[in-house]
Amino acid sequence: MTTQVEAALRGPEAFNLARNALAEMESAGVWPTPLNFELWIHYLGDPEGPLGREMTRLLGAADSFTEGTAEMLAAEYLPRGRLSEEIRDAGAVLNRELSSVSAALAKARQSQADYGETLTEASASIEAAGDPADLKRLVTGLTDATTRVQRENRTLETRLETSTKEVARLREHLEQVRRDAMTDALTNLGNRKSFDEALLAACVESDKTKKPFTLAVLDIDHFKRFNDTWGHQTGDQVLRYVASVIGRVSKAPRIAARYGGEEFAVICPGESAATVETALNAIREEIGSRALRRRSTNDELGAVTISAGLATRHPGESGSSLLDRADEALYASKRSGRNQVTNAERLEKAA
Ligand code: C2E
Repeated sequence: MTTQVEAALRGPEAFNLARNALAEMESAGVWPTPLNFELWIHYLGDPEGPLGREMTRLLGAADSFTEGTAEMLAAEYLPRGRLSEEIRDAGAVLNRELSSVSAALAKARQSQADYGETLTEASASIEAAGDPADLKRLVTGLTDATTRVQRENRTLETRLETSTKEVARLREHLEQVRRDAMTDALTNLGNRKSFDEALLAACVESDKTKKPFTLAVLDIDHFKRFNDTWGHQTGDQVLRYVASVIGRVSKAPRIAARYGGEEFAVICPGESAATVETALNAIREEIGSRALRRRSTNDELGAVTISAGLATRHPGESGSSLLDRADEALYASKRSGRNQVTNAERLEKAA
């Protein structure tokens, strides 16, 4: 939950926000399920945030707002809540495993203590033992005690083995949850959260290595018009198509993400503007050259085009300033007729 929305829910506007959310859900024809309610609260509380903008886009499209749409939005934009739920569950499993292992350890410790006592007693008894029958009884008692301790040890080993497996499974599951929380469900590229983190990390790395890096932002031209004409399901397919081309050209160490509705970003560590510009033009040409078809009706959709901007980081520059410069370059591409790539540096030199 964004801090802005969280603050609104504890302030004087809280009940108005909740009432408006219900009214808006009713007028959009969606059920006030807990998930929809949470989405609408965020949407109305922060309409200009990433979720707000995506919901405006989806609600503006002709198609209905389904449960699948709500799930997709929640997975994409409400990951923190989901993640903390998973972490809570994982914590409960870990607690259970730890209690059961510590109970097994306590039992094993007790058995060892009992065994020690048995040995001490046996040692005293051996000294006092008069005939072979007494000795035989003693040895039998010791054998039994040894067998008991061995059994306890085996139980403990099995328990520890089970716990090790369970903890490994848990670790794998949490890793998957972490990956999901950083992935855009529709396009499988990184999401906005992963992009923000990667940009910060790239700045830190670039300060450390003194190597610059280049940031590219890409946006689908006239996407709203496309969505309005063909519906948002087809719009989603176009997003997937554009993302698949961007993803193919952006292999590691490049990091590609869906930055917003129809906007993408690629972080290119250690790369100059010239190589990134070439890659962006290759993406632009490939996307623009494919005639798309509507899957449901086979209608010709024509080609979509993209505009892009790129900026190379100046030493010490913040991520948000770099992003602003790349965005400026993107808007220059849009202003000069779209379907083109602009380098921020050329733009800044010309100014
Ligand atoms: P998808 O439908 O899941 O398809 C995944 C991949 O399977 C495609 O990757 C492509 O390699 C292959 N594929 C699927 N259907 C066809 C087909 O009818 N003909 C051919 N030649 N290959 C096919 P690709 O091309 O990178 O596309 C990624 C996603 O972009 C697709 O996922 C789909 O969601 C969207 N997309 C791509 N082209 C079109 C199109 O012409 N119309 C629509 N509606 N969506 C498209």
